[in-house]
Amino acid sequence: MRLLTFCHQGREMVGALSPDGERVFPLEELGHPVASMEDLIRQSTPQLLQELDAQVRSRDGGGLAYASVQKMAPIPRPRQDILCLGINYMDHAEESARFKKEAFGGERPYAVYFSKRVNRAAGDGEVLPNYAHLDPCIDYEAELGVILGRDAKDVPLEEAFQYVFGYTIINDMSARTLQTRHKQWYFGKSLDGYCPMGPWIVTRDALPEPPELEISSRVNGELRQHSNTRLMIFDIPHVIHELSQGMTLQAGTVIAMGTPAGVGMGFVPPRFLQSGDAVTCEIQGIGALTNTLG
Ligand code: MG
Repeated sequence: MRLLTFCHQGREMVGALSPDGERVFPLEELGHPVASMEDLIRQSTPQLLQELDAQVRSRDGGGLAYASVQKMAPIPRPRQDILCLGINYMDHAEESARFKKEAFGGERPYAVYFSKRVNRAAGDGEVLPNYAHLDPCIDYEAELGVILGRDAKDVPLEEAFQYVFGYTIINDMSARTLQTRHKQWYFGKSLDGYCPMGPWIVTRDALPEPPELEISSRVNGELRQHSNTRLMIFDIPHVIHELSQGMTLQAGTVIAMGTPAGVGMGFVPPRFLQSGDAVTCEIQGIGALTNTLG
């Protein structure tokens, strides 16, 4: 099932998409009103999700035309910073070290974790602010986003997937000068508007497990990144297991699983985004997320 947040007649709503993608059913119309996607996540049980899915599949008409609603990120205002993996595909490790060795080189026997402030996640189709005055080196990173469905603490490796609510696409937009100049990546990863997310959440049951999915990005239609999430160095169970040993990962936590090779800084010379460039990140079984740099 695909779950989305959207705006209709000035109201922010959560809904489920019809199997053909044409209609969106507000959850209140399905008898389960929620204030936000995070509320739904916290209330969700496998039974509730199955019930909603069955309703959506059996509906004949009703709902709203998907084309008529204003698209938003599925979790537009995450309660906490997004957790991110740095350098989680080997080919991206190589291109990053080539770009700036002191920032990205060296051995990494353990996963690289960092966080990204997201005041408001951009939705599919949104124009992103351009901070050329702050940093001319604006870059894209297509990533699999994992959303946790319940609080996770001390999760055994073999139970990790039970904590996953679903998956989405994240473009971990990055201001490379800020990212590398300040040593810690936080500032360069957290500019307003630089976390496009969506276009929806695909629930865990609707994708293979583990989710081994083709992942790609295009800039103005030109293929830049193309890989498969099975090539991640540290996989989803590893991350949930490891991080939950020391901290509680709350329901609704978003984890961006890292990006494969082909980002702008990986080219010689680098190919950073210019005003008007459209970036499309696509993941098999989830969909496509397109944003234009203003
Ligand atoms: Mg990233």
